[in-house]
Amino acid sequence: MQQGSGFKKDAVQALQNETLQAALNTARGGFVDKRRVAVDALPEFDAIKARAKAIKNHTLDNLGDYLQEFERAVIASGGQVHWAQTTEQANQAVLEICAQANAKCVTKGKSMISEEMQLNHALENAGYEVMETDLGEYIIQLAKETPSHIIAPAVHKTKAQVEALFDEFHGAELPPNRSREQLVSEARVRLREAFLGADVGITGANFLIAETGSSVLVTNEGNGDLTASIPGVHIVTASIDKVIPKLDDLPTFLRLLGRSATGQELTAYTTLFTGPRRAEETAGPEQFHVILLDNGRSDIRDSEFKDALRCIRCGACLNHCAVYGAVGGHAYNAVYPGPIGQVMTPLLNGLDSSLETISACTMNGHCKAVCPMGIPLPDLIRKHRVAAFEQNKNSFLERKGLSFWKSMGLKPGVYRHLTAMSAKAVKLLGDFPLLQNLTPLLGSWKNGRVLMKARGKTFQALLKAGRKHD
Ligand code: SF4
Repeated sequence: MQQGSGFKKDAVQALQNETLQAALNTARGGFVDKRRVAVDALPEFDAIKARAKAIKNHTLDNLGDYLQEFERAVIASGGQVHWAQTTEQANQAVLEICAQANAKCVTKGKSMISEEMQLNHALENAGYEVMETDLGEYIIQLAKETPSHIIAPAVHKTKAQVEALFDEFHGAELPPNRSREQLVSEARVRLREAFLGADVGITGANFLIAETGSSVLVTNEGNGDLTASIPGVHIVTASIDKVIPKLDDLPTFLRLLGRSATGQELTAYTTLFTGPRRAEETAGPEQFHVILLDNGRSDIRDSEFKDALRCIRCGACLNHCAVYGAVGGHAYNAVYPGPIGQVMTPLLNGLDSSLETISACTMNGHCKAVCPMGIPLPDLIRKHRVAAFEQNKNSFLERKGLSFWKSMGLKPGVYRHLTAMSAKAVKLLGDFPLLQNLTPLLGSWKNGRVLMKARGKTFQALLKAGRKHD
């Protein structure tokens, strides 16, 4: 299936999947509550947000200069930069490095860019043994699935499902109903073997520092450090928008990232990788490579969607999205789910593949409110909708409906009259539920829903009446 398509069908299945709903329910509150507590405890959060936004805007305005500065710094520290316009070129660069290293086993840290590249497929097709080392990624690799969340790839799995997977793949005689700690220990044993046997380690990067040529990685498991430092070759896969100018800029972003993602002041591990092992060092890779992927981002930077490139992939917009919270990430059928995915997928894969996805937004603005980089996500999603309409991509019925809605919006008197009639009709249906079955317009909408008793007046009418009483 083409990336980004099939949302409606998959969303219906997701809503009917009780196991998935249980997993989403468990995850939903945790992220939101922890973020709120962490942000409330930092009075200068908004000031940090404003600074981060200004730094990123400045960087994007001077992107070419900072990328060249980054490359010079990487070379000066003994590493190499590989420029890739497309995901195919990026995969090719990784494969060539692995071939030159005579590699057999490759370990990987979590990297959304490697998901964008479908790097695991490329490596496995070329005969390499690939092991994901982030626990969530390890779980979905065993399950042969893709991540459903940008920071918590296996958030759609329940503990029972993980235990069943481990029973199948860890092979030995394992007791039933193992604790979370026991499951983590089991995975750790497998992962340690992989770390020690790897020839090449591949990580992503949360940030690239132009001044020093450093690649910054934040994790909560420390797997990134072992992936990067044990094998003889370390490859970083990163998109060009990850660059920031100076080392001094980094704390601004780190203070936003941990709080927005998991409600932590800082993630447990923050590591800066700068070049390969030095002569006086006893550990670390002998080769350090950075694959810099564009994949359409230069065009995005020059478009009305430039704001999206400020994203630091914290996942807060997903965690606060009503639609993502109801259907999970797989329904989006794309590398990036949720609000940021609804903006990025049409840009990466084309508007045609994303028509259903861009419609799956209530425009409640919650994502924009929690985004630490001030990205106007609903406005950007709406721009995609406008483009779809202007390019005549909607169905006949949708176009007629939208045209009708627009003409009503331009005639406030008629609009008020129609909405007043609708409010009365909704009240009637609520008062006499049997009528709901006779109303074809409700269609499948009423399956699993109860139409509440309504007051029979529009919001505007109630507001006006309230003002009169003041
Ligand atoms: S769009 Fe904003 S909230 Fe969403 S992942 Fe990116 S930085 Fe985080």
